[in-house]
Amino acid sequence: MTNKLKVSFLTLGCKVNQTESEALNQLLTSEGYEVVQEAEGPDVVIINTCTVTGTGSSKSRKVIRRMAKEHPLSTIAVMGCYSQTQPEEVSQIEGVDLVLGTQDRATILYHLRKLAEQKQEKHLKERKPVLAVRDFESQAEYEELPLIEGESRVRAMLKIQDGCSQFCTYCIVPYARGPARSRSSEKVISEARKLLEAGHKEIILTGIHTGAYGKDQAGMDLSKLISQLAELPNLLRLRISSIEPIEFSEDLLTAVTSHQEVCPHFHIPLQSGSDSVLTRMKRPYRVDDYARLLNRIREKLPQAALTTDVMTGFPGETEIEHEQSLKFIESCEFAGIHVFPYSRRTGTIAAEMSNQLPRSIKTARVQEIIALGQKSRANYIKQFIGYPLEVLVEKIEEDGSAQGHTPNYLEIRFPGSLNPGDWQVGQIIKHPLKHEHIV
Ligand code: SF4
Repeated sequence: MTNKLKVSFLTLGCKVNQTESEALNQLLTSEGYEVVQEAEGPDVVIINTCTVTGTGSSKSRKVIRRMAKEHPLSTIAVMGCYSQTQPEEVSQIEGVDLVLGTQDRATILYHLRKLAEQKQEKHLKERKPVLAVRDFESQAEYEELPLIEGESRVRAMLKIQDGCSQFCTYCIVPYARGPARSRSSEKVISEARKLLEAGHKEIILTGIHTGAYGKDQAGMDLSKLISQLAELPNLLRLRISSIEPIEFSEDLLTAVTSHQEVCPHFHIPLQSGSDSVLTRMKRPYRVDDYARLLNRIREKLPQAALTTDVMTGFPGETEIEHEQSLKFIESCEFAGIHVFPYSRRTGTIAAEMSNQLPRSIKTARVQEIIALGQKSRANYIKQFIGYPLEVLVEKIEEDGSAQGHTPNYLEIRFPGSLNPGDWQVGQIIKHPLKHEHIV
């Protein structure tokens, strides 16, 4: 019999949220909580919410309501981007006990203890939610939430930065996450060492605005951090999750090309291939700048996987602008495109712009870009067919096949029949690629 308190996590949204939930999971475990599946009757349910699109917010609301209904006796704690931007709305959902935002997350231990005491005093019936969300200060500091283990035995996300000060006109993130702030390089290196000592082979640098790393620290930037990390013993791969085009500096290009550990896979959000739309979005580059950047990268790393995000149906996006965008996107020959329709977020400048487009137009444009993305991805992959590719094995299936990613982020499954010996998780294996190996 155990009298440990049982806690379940439900995480919505991006990789940063996943990393933060994982860090809190480890914090609560070290404090004696038992992390369980939702079906195992948790005493505490923690919902880490998202608000980056309207769908993120409405999914978050649905999950909170469902959890409160299905676990009426559990403590329901809500945190993350949606509760940071809409704390009152969250606190009014029946059954919610605690509302945190994207700051002070470690105080959850204190709040949970208090709430448990109140429950024992049978205050549950008249429970009132604790609202512990505060606005961001301009000098907000990076909040440490260290990670001990990664998302899998092989790959680990390493958060190096939080917040964004760019204020693109469509984006709620600077309000939900506060100003850009960096984690100290000592803390980053020390966490990376721990992850490598725990057996991880690949580290993925993540943040809300990763390219802004170091701007708030004298003498530090992303290229320097990468050079320091690349020297760590036992690191096989280092990957940057995403980087804004204007932050892909010459120094960064030198750093990523001079360390073979750095994966030739760069996700560089474009958002639109039309200059007039980029201007209205307040994106700080134009399509020519973007094209020059891709050329610079390809000169040094001709087979690098260059992937992007595109948003369709920004307010006032005309048919001509959309056509310009399609044409430009096609010319970029991306290895992958993540496309989504513009989503009106209250509090942003774009939400107040006239000429909001109907959903039907946004969706039709999404479909066109998806089709373009599939075509350019197929073209990108074609060049590797028949050539040996290195895969870092993340799992071995029952049939002996080995699954993992290549440095340029192709997900591959080599069948067990190719196995000349014993494949191991965490090992790099190399085989000529066939179409059927691509997951
Ligand atoms: S750079 Fe722009 S899109 Fe990205 S998080 Fe900051 S404001 Fe949002």
